[in-house]
Amino acid sequence: MKSHVGMEQKVCPVCGQTFDTGTILLDKRLRNTLERKTVTGWDLCPEHAKLWEKGYIALVECDPEKSKFTGGTIKPEDAYRTGRIAHIRKAVAKRIFNVEMTSPVAFVEPGVVDMLEKMQEGETSGD
Ligand SMILES: [Zn+2]
Repeated sequence: MKSHVGMEQKVCPVCGQTFDTGTILLDKRLRNTLERKTVTGWDLCPEHAKLWEKGYIALVECDPEKSKFTGGTIKPEDAYRTGRIAHIRKAVAKRIFNVEMTSPVAFVEPGVVDMLEKMQEGETSGD
């Protein structure tokens, strides 16, 4: 049933979870256009927003066979997530991928997360 008031929800591009933003949506003309819970777009969930604030970017592994590429990149809605996610510091990401990471999330092919986990193990066992 639609109403003129709804609870805003967004979808996290990192984990793909829908979450409440705490914002109340109002149809300005008071028409009953809103679902009780209405998804308005993409945003980081509280957990992943915190990691981004701390300087981490999320590498989300997706299946290149099942994801849709647009101009060489994958949009969040077209990513077929394998469920594996790695968080690495922006500076580390820059070193590995040789680009400045300006987005909190990057979609990567299978194998990249494995590689990073091995690298991080190497760093921690070194001391
Ligand atoms: Zn999330």
